[in-house]
Formats: sequence, structure tokens, C-alpha cells
Amino acid sequence: MSSYPDTLLLIDNEWREARGNKRIDVVNPATGNKIGQVANASKEDLDLALAAAQRGFETWRDMSAHERCTLMRKAAQLLRERVDSVARLLTQEQGKPLAEARIEVAAGAEIIDWFANEALRVYGRIVPARNPAAQQLVIKEPVGPVAAFTPWNFPVNQVVRKLGAALASGCSFLVKAPEETPASPAALLNCFVDAGLPKGVVGLVFGSPAEISSYLIPHPIIRKVTFTGSTPVGKQLAALAGQHMKRVTMELGGHAPVIVAQDADVELAVKASGGAKFRNAGQVCISPTRFLVHKDVKAAFEQALIKHAESLKLGDGMTDGTTLGPLANDRRLAAMDKIVKNASAKGAKVATGGERIGSAGNFFAPTVLTDVPLDADVFNEEPFGPIAAVRSFENLEDAIKEANRLPFGLAAYAFTKSFKNVTELSRRLEVGMVWINQPATPSAELPFGGVKDSGYGSEGGPEALEAYLVTKAVSVVGV
Ligand code: NAD
Repeated sequence: MSSYPDTLLLIDNEWREARGNKRIDVVNPATGNKIGQVANASKEDLDLALAAAQRGFETWRDMSAHERCTLMRKAAQLLRERVDSVARLLTQEQGKPLAEARIEVAAGAEIIDWFANEALRVYGRIVPARNPAAQQLVIKEPVGPVAAFTPWNFPVNQVVRKLGAALASGCSFLVKAPEETPASPAALLNCFVDAGLPKGVVGLVFGSPAEISSYLIPHPIIRKVTFTGSTPVGKQLAALAGQHMKRVTMELGGHAPVIVAQDADVELAVKASGGAKFRNAGQVCISPTRFLVHKDVKAAFEQALIKHAESLKLGDGMTDGTTLGPLANDRRLAAMDKIVKNASAKGAKVATGGERIGSAGNFFAPTVLTDVPLDADVFNEEPFGPIAAVRSFENLEDAIKEANRLPFGLAAYAFTKSFKNVTELSRRLEVGMVWINQPATPSAELPFGGVKDSGYGSEGGPEALEAYLVTKAVSVVGV
């Protein structure tokens, strides 16, 4: 077993104990054993972190975009060199197979590079003036110190997308990362410290999520709030930010439909959506969740999906060959059990899986539910776990209606060979991201975000930087 460090707070480029040495335990979800601790910040620690973020902002904002780009790229390079050690921390605290953790960390380095380069392209514009003696400029400026709140499902990359966009825009960045998975985000931020970022530009705290968010969001130093997590918590934080007129990005829950049309390549549909379904044990906001399959291909699709689920190797993510790890915490284990029982009671069939495996660690069998009625919880609440829920449809119109029925609107998938269907699906699905005939391939350069209850704002593409920038009009008449 690799070693696992205790995690401290990062304030002013120093790793510090919390005042009063308060700490929270960290547990390995594959064993249920305590593996370390994380510092639990007090209000005093938060005040120090806020003051550091303000000073860091004043330094970072005044550096040239080229200097910022160079430092960010250096941090990306350090992260690339440390992929293996950071991935080992990530798997021990979060549970995903080591190969998935390595992909997450390596992708993190790529995303930082992309944002670093994008820092060079934060352009303003010149607007022709009505007065010939005047010059009118539109300037983009960083909004100010950012408070970020990130979840445990992608401990590194949930931070990276926010951090990359904030730093590229010239903002300082104070993040409350997840207490359950603290060491890998700390290792990420350490790359920025080691790359030579000025003090206070990045900061990291842990503690009680509700206490920290209710202190940071209204605080006058914080000018922008960004959160990834569940819709109910997102709504609370957005309301608080609204009361204090803070800019907000919200990346919330989804419930992604997968529409498999009558003319779909069924083998491709199962390979792409089945693979995506069980990645990170289904604890992914864009995970395929509602499988809507045309009645003519239903039997073939279900058979292949069950076969795929049964071929997965459930185990400790640190063990070679594991393709499905434990759930990240025992809350998800209880939630999976409830979902399966509810679906069965409503008439769905448990085609495979459906139960916890073993008594140590949070292992839940990859599960396929078929003939799931629309009123089963799994078709209405985000499962966030290794459960695929399948039902059939007769015409595409009904499938599109079902896809749009829920208040969520993050990702959707579709499989079809018809250009007419592709056009119809791309146009009518009420989501922020549509993947057709492929698994999700989110990248730094593509917008990433949702509509409806899935939130607002984007964490990819140039739109991601816009969220951290304010616009200033400057009109000058020479005298
Ligand atoms: P939760 O709603 O309690 O927490 C979700 C995340 O928000 C956690 O990281 C948590 O630390 C944070 N959080 C909770 N209350 C907060 C507050 N008042 N202020 C600041 N942060 C706060 O639920 P959970 O049991 O951790 O996760 C379950 C649900 O959360 C899932 O079903 C899923 O819908 C959602 N979730 C979504 C994502 C995503 O990528 N969009 C990631 C993790 C969890």
C-alpha cells in the first residue's frame, strides 16, 4: 500500500495546521479504514486565507498574461511529472481504479495548459466613437478573489477546471475542496506553489462545508463563487450569492438520457454508454442514467449491457485489473440500496447486480434494471452510482419528451445512423451537452455546463474565462 499523508491548509503558500489543531478523519472507501486526517479550518483560519487571497489578487492581477501563462504551464508540467504519486493518493481516498485516477490527473495537466494559453487571448475591443477626438475601449478585467467549492467524485479535475479559468483570468483562488478526498487536491495545489506562484494566489481550506460557504460567500473580499455538487445545495449557495450580488457559476446534478434509436449501432451504443455508465462507479454528473431504447433493439441492447456489467472486475482501485472501484462514501451505498428496492417494488426487473458486495468497503455490484416504470425513483432522482435503468420507447418523439421531462439538463447521449434523427436530437434535447454515437469526450476547449436545474455558466471553452471577467468601458478624449 502506498503512503498517505495528512493534509493541511494552504495559506500564503504555507501548509499550516488549523488553529486549535482541529482535524477530520479520512477513510479509504475500499477498506473502511482510517488512512489519515485533514485540517479543519476555524473562522480565524478563513480570515487569514481571505486576507491572503486579497493580497494574492493584487499581485496576480498586475502581472502580465505572459507571466501568468508561464507559471501556470510550469505547474502543469510539475503535475504531469507527479501523475503517478497524485493518482495513488486519489485512489486511496476516493476509490476509483488507479488507471482512471492517472487519466484524471494527466487530463488535469492538459486542462491547466489549455487555460494558461487562453490567458493570452483575453482580448478587449475598440469601439468607433461618435466624437472623432475620442477613443472608446472595452477592457476585460479579473472579477477578483474567487471562492470555489468542489466535490469528491473528481477530486483533482473539479478543482482544475475552476482554478485554470480563474488564474488565466487574473483572479486569485481560494478553494474548499472535499474533506473526504483532501490529499490529491492538496498535491495539485502544491504544484502551483512549487511552480513559484506569488503568495496568496492559490489557497486551500477544509472544514464544515456549510460553515465555510456561509462565511466565504457573503465576505466582501470574495467577488465570485463557483460550486460543483448537488442541485439542492447549489440552489442554497446561489441564493446566498444573490443576496450579496456575487457572480456565480453552478455545475450541478444531471440525469442523462441515452436514446438508442431503432437504427442505432447497438454494439457501439453499449460499448460507449456502458463504458461511460460504470466509469468512476457512476459517480459522474454526466453519467448516462436513463436508457431509452427503441422496442425493436431493446432485447439486444439489454443483453449486451448486462454482459458488459457482468464483465467488470469489482475491487480495490489499487489492485491491478480492477475496473470498478467502491463507492466513494457510505451515503452512496445506502442510496443505491434504496434505489434498487424502490424500483423493484414499482415493478422493474433487477437483470443483474442490485446489492452490496462484501461487508468491508463500499462495494456495490454493477446493476442493470430493466422495464423501469417512469415513477420509480431511479428515473427521477440522479442515481450517482453504478446503476443503469432501462426502458423502451416506440417512437423518437416519445423518447425526446421523456428526455426533457425532468428538471435536469446537463448531458444527453443518442445513438442513431439517421442524419434526420441527429438533427432533431441535437436541436431538441434540453441540455448543455449532447454526445451522439460516442461516449462523452469533454475537453478544456469545449463548453461544459448545464441548463435548467443543472446550473448555469460553463467550465470549458472561452466561456469559462468569461465567468471570471468583468467588462469595463473606457472613453478617452485627449486634451
Ligand atoms: P451533498 O449534496 O451533501 O454534497 C455535494 C457536495 O457539496 C459535497 O462536495 C459537499 O461537500 C458539498 N456541500 C454540501 N453542502 C454544502 C454547503 N452548504 N456549502 C458548500 N458545499 C457544500 O451530497 P453528497 O452526499 O456529498 O453527494 C450526493 C449528491 O451530490 C449526488 O447525488 C450528486 O447529485 C451530487 N454531486 C454532484 C457532483 C457533480 O459532479 N455535479 C459531484 C458530487 C456530488
